[in-house]
Amino acid sequence: ENRTKSLLYLDGVSVSFDGFKALNSLSFVVEPGELRAIIGPNGAGKTTMMDIITGKTRPNSGTVLFEDSIDLTKKDEADIARLGIGRKFQKPTVFESHTVWDNLELALNRKRGVFATLFYTLTKDDKARIEEILATVRLGHRRDSLAANLSHGQKQWLEIGMLLAQEPKLLLVDEPVAGMTDAETAETAVLLKEIAKTRSVVVVEHDMGFIRDLGVKVTCLAEGSVLAEGSIDFVSNDPKVIENYLGR
Ligand code: ADP
Repeated sequence: ENRTKSLLYLDGVSVSFDGFKALNSLSFVVEPGELRAIIGPNGAGKTTMMDIITGKTRPNSGTVLFEDSIDLTKKDEADIARLGIGRKFQKPTVFESHTVWDNLELALNRKRGVFATLFYTLTKDDKARIEEILATVRLGHRRDSLAANLSHGQKQWLEIGMLLAQEPKLLLVDEPVAGMTDAETAETAVLLKEIAKTRSVVVVEHDMGFIRDLGVKVTCLAEGSVLAEGSIDFVSNDPKVIENYLGR
């Protein structure tokens, strides 16, 4: 068999809460190095899908594989994080009273299992990696600023940088541009495309201008399964997508 190795493979995934099907035989595949956008109305199952991938919620049925062979339904949240799946929630959670640099240093130490400490001498390589992340998340000029003094958009970028310090193979990002300025939103599209050169990224967003800027394959969920999948033009012209999401 010469099927391309998928990074993430969900097939027939269902989960019910008190008899209500939050996911209904969902199938979803992400390839290595892919950047994918997820759209869909509130209650479509987007968050539940992320919860299944990260081990926060167990499916009632279906297959969830990472790197073609690792059964994520048998792993707990900490195992899944260690396997290389990072998740960014909508609200940024940075250490406000630490500088940008120290936030990244803390994140780097966390990967080593050295929690919440700055008393660890960084190697040359560590410093180079922090420099690289600072450049990626557009915060080189703010390295000495307290995180509290960053704009909302910059805090989102810093948290993305902190996740990059964990070197995830798959980064899940929930509504990154909500509350950002137009300029920050446009920059976030560029930034995520850069990040996806070295890993896969799945981004949930409602901002259709941003999704269009990403220019990647889009998956529209509704009622717990895939309503349409393809280019933004294909998906946004699908009558089911217009009826269930865009036309609302
Ligand atoms: P989305 O992120 O697309 O808005 P969600 O995954 O949050 O959708 O929700 C899908 C459906 O499942 C919603 O109707 C929601 O109320 C329900 N749901 C999600 N999590 C739970 C839970 N832990 N208990 C009960 N119902 C839930």
